[in-house]
Amino acid sequence: MGAASSAPYEDRKVIVVGAGYAGTAVAKELDKLFDVTLIDRRDHMQHAIGQLRAAVVGGEFASSTLIPTDRVLKRGKVLKAAVTSISPETVKLEGGSEIHIRPGRDFLVIATGSTVAAPAQFDGLTREAVAAQHADIKAKIDSARHVLIVGGGPVGVELAGEIRDAHPDKRVTIVHRGRHLCSSKDGGNGDVRLPDSFGASLKDLCEERSIEVRLGVSVPASTSTHEAGADLALSDGTSVAGVDLILWASGAKPNNATFRTTMAASLDEAGRLVTEPSLLVRGSEHVFALGDCAETGASKTAYMVGAQAPVVAGNVKALADGKPATGLKAFTCGTPAMVVPVGAAYGRGVLPFCGGIQIGNSMVSSAKGKTLFLDKTRADLGY
Ligand SMILES: Cc1cc2nc3c(=O)[nH]c(=O)nc-3n(C[C@H](O)[C@H](O)[C@H](O)COP(=O)(O)OP(=O)(O)OC[C@H]3O[C@@H](n4cnc5c(N)ncnc54)[C@H](O)[C@@H]3O)c2cc1C
Repeated sequence: MGAASSAPYEDRKVIVVGAGYAGTAVAKELDKLFDVTLIDRRDHMQHAIGQLRAAVVGGEFASSTLIPTDRVLKRGKVLKAAVTSISPETVKLEGGSEIHIRPGRDFLVIATGSTVAAPAQFDGLTREAVAAQHADIKAKIDSARHVLIVGGGPVGVELAGEIRDAHPDKRVTIVHRGRHLCSSKDGGNGDVRLPDSFGASLKDLCEERSIEVRLGVSVPASTSTHEAGADLALSDGTSVAGVDLILWASGAKPNNATFRTTMAASLDEAGRLVTEPSLLVRGSEHVFALGDCAETGASKTAYMVGAQAPVVAGNVKALADGKPATGLKAFTCGTPAMVVPVGAAYGRGVLPFCGGIQIGNSMVSSAKGKTLFLDKTRADLGY
């Protein structure tokens, strides 16, 4: 936060809930125009794309993926607070304080993201707490001789690749209920349909890297505890021998506890806020939603957030300028794309050009595998 010259709409509030990829991008864009408040329960932005490597390698890399949010805004405020309830008129904070929103003057942007189990995401609220969680999971991975990953979506496959890079001799198995890695609806990606040939190519690569892949079979959801070294029973009556550690890489859920009841009429079956093409929440003229907590028709990825944030920021400004809600810019999600490293130097990808062109190790490594967009994300947040 810092003093600066007056902004054109400084008497109009924009309240942004959630300082992930979506919330930080919108708040930053509107900071020069409005009285912006960005709220998150964490004291940092957890760079999701780096968490799997952070869990496996720990140390300085892990710490650099937890990016403080204190430099995102030049004029506005960043509040570290858990939001307990969101309605179109009021945002309630832990401790009882409330922020009132004046429809017709102020704007609310909901970007609360989603929750997924560690090691894809860590629920610590401070950098210190997450550092302890990183160290804990790293120790478990280090001491396991055989790690079994449940879910062969992009998170499961990337995790297997990170473990293989750091531990060439460990046994790593992926169990995936879909017929192809990364290409089924329940494969961890949730909503993108990619060609079966992509999944087949990823499986070949995993096997080249000595990662075992079991398809079309699942680990019973009741498997909550597992004794190190015991065999693990699968849904088809077979088993995987000698599993020391099970890591779950499936089942992302939208963070909707704060608006599930207050905005129930705007939710879809999965509990996400359904938006108009303008990214206004259905039925509202001042509440926007984007990212993983919103159903926009797009995949739930940071890549799509990158296309949504400018639409939200532009439409907030257009409404403030007096444009009608019917005349706003529309978000379009385009062709699905996905880049899946299997370790820093390997991977497969589908790009959103020429009907989904597929790419291999060197392009995946230079586009994502080596850096995991860490420097870019840190720079976006002023670090
Ligand atoms: C391991 C992993 C790897 C990924 N890799 C890629 C990739 O390579 N490319 C890609 O495009 N996408 C990737 N994704 C998906 C991408 O990370 C998500 O789509 C993205 O994080 C969504 O951004 P968001 O801002 O909507 O939500 P989030 O990043 O989840 O941020 C939401 C924020 O809201 C805050 N919040 C929630 N509830 C409250 C509350 N009640 N009070 C206060 N604050 C609250 C949270 O603390 C959080 O900071 C990956 C995801 C994972 C888990």
